[in-house]
Formats: sequence, structure tokens, C-alpha cells
Amino acid sequence: MRTCAICGREARGFHYTHQLRPDRYPTFAFCSMRCLDTGGAIARRNKGMIDKTDMEKRAIKEARQFLAEVLTELGLMASFHDCSAAEIDRIIEACIDGFQDAMQRQTLNDDVPF
Ligand SMILES: [Zn+2]
Repeated sequence: MRTCAICGREARGFHYTHQLRPDRYPTFAFCSMRCLDTGGAIARRNKGMIDKTDMEKRAIKEARQFLAEVLTELGLMASFHDCSAAEIDRIIEACIDGFQDAMQRQTLNDDVPF
């Protein structure tokens, strides 16, 4: 299965190649117009490349705040007080990975009602 270069869902026939030059730039596949637009904008800024690493890093950083809010609400913040930022990020990444894996598996099995 070819996955979307932006969100990791199944790609569905949307493609982007910088300057339409597949001899010089990689072709990326996307699941939707929305991801195609996002990917195209990144590639135009980035010499035809889509590097999600920076985006992911920033997204995980922003997710920390949401996790902190929930932990505070549940009164669990004290338990995480001694955790480093890297440990918090591992927790967030584990949730995201598990979620994406399960979503992809269900898509492959066609279990998802559309
Ligand atoms: Zn996508």
C-alpha cells in the first residue's frame, strides 16, 4: 500500500512532483486534495522535498500542552512531574503510532464503514 506523504493514510491517486520534473524530483502520493495542497506547499518551499520530520517534531511539541491539560484535569500531573520532555514525547509518540497503526490496519481490512 502506498501511503499519503502527509498523514500516512492510504494514498488515493493524488500526486505531486515539483515542477512536474520526475527526472529531477521525487513524486509524492497523497490521500486527498487537502493533503496534496499541504504537501505541494511544503515541496515548493523545500526544493521539491517533503520532510515531515520538522512538522512532526513541532506537532508533538504542541501536543505536550494538551497532554498536560488532561493530566492536570485528571489530577495526574504530579506523577509526571519528574518526567523529562523526551519521556513525555515518547508517551505522545506511542499514542500516535498506535492510533495510526490501528487506522491503517482497519483500512486494509476494510473494517471501516464509510
Ligand atoms: Zn493524507
